[in-house]
Amino acid sequence: MLSVKWQNGVLVESEGFSMVLDPIKRVESADFAFISHAHMDHTHAFTDSSKIKYSTKETAALYEAVADRKTKNVVSCAYGQSLSVHDMRLKVVNSGHVFGSAALLLSSGDVTFFYTGDFNFADSLTQNAICPEECDILVIETTYGRPDFVFPNREDVYDQIVQWAASTIMHGETPCFLVYPVGKAQELTRLFNLFTPIPVVTHPSVTRANGIVNAFGGDLAYYDLADAGEDIVKSGNCVCLFPTSLNSRAIKMVYPRARVATVTGWGLAFGKRNADANFVLSSHADYLQLLTFVKECRPKKVYTMHGYSEIFSNKLKRMGFDSTPLEL
Ligand SMILES: [Zn+2]
Repeated sequence: MLSVKWQNGVLVESEGFSMVLDPIKRVESADFAFISHAHMDHTHAFTDSSKIKYSTKETAALYEAVADRKTKNVVSCAYGQSLSVHDMRLKVVNSGHVFGSAALLLSSGDVTFFYTGDFNFADSLTQNAICPEECDILVIETTYGRPDFVFPNREDVYDQIVQWAASTIMHGETPCFLVYPVGKAQELTRLFNLFTPIPVVTHPSVTRANGIVNAFGGDLAYYDLADAGEDIVKSGNCVCLFPTSLNSRAIKMVYPRARVATVTGWGLAFGKRNADANFVLSSHADYLQLLTFVKECRPKKVYTMHGYSEIFSNKLKRMGFDSTPLEL
């Protein structure tokens, strides 16, 4: 018997086994923790040095670089590798979200449990899409689980981004993108590396994340803003990647000729906000992809979490699935 509930994370329990997935606080009752990827709202378990934690090597390395903290008691899992934990079989698979991101399969007896973590069901320049897994219990993130969140074709968005950057430079201004240091930063670095000769200048937080990807065999080309990138920005012929912790006004105070774009699926709902442009490019699955993904996993029970979990769960119920929002 395997039970699933929300307890400051997804708590999975069966006889003699308890594991919390992506906890947001310390969960004393769990023997083990799983960290799906290196975004800071998923990595709290790394701060619990006593607990045994499972993650990919890439996720732990990104966390250490971006948070500037050491990890302890981490069992590294490679995609596709099976491990035994008590009576459980544990396997992580690529979730397509960001570098090193993993979805988790647990099986006990004849029950298979699948936790997607944050995931993308479309290929990008840096990540392959997640593959659906047939399972009995599916826990799926539903960040964009509302019918109006249907993303445009990714190649078209890449095209728009490159055109906007080229046109901005042509007008004597500097195209700057607000991105997550882990994820979109690597995707945009690769986009400009592959299809343009425009140098990419990265804020130090992006530099650290790009450096980890290259340490694992990546070939991202970029210049750190705190180093050689400073002179390149002065020349005006470059694109700059800044973290989303900054904003348009802060960037323009330092670089008056900056034009600032956000790069997020939320642009569909909120437009460009205070920036000069928005590009609808996401590291998550959109509404239609979420629906297809659930159908292909053929689960007996679905738990939805994050974003529009209730709306999406209700849609699944109308389609005949047994579905419940996990956090309610
Ligand atoms: Zn994420």
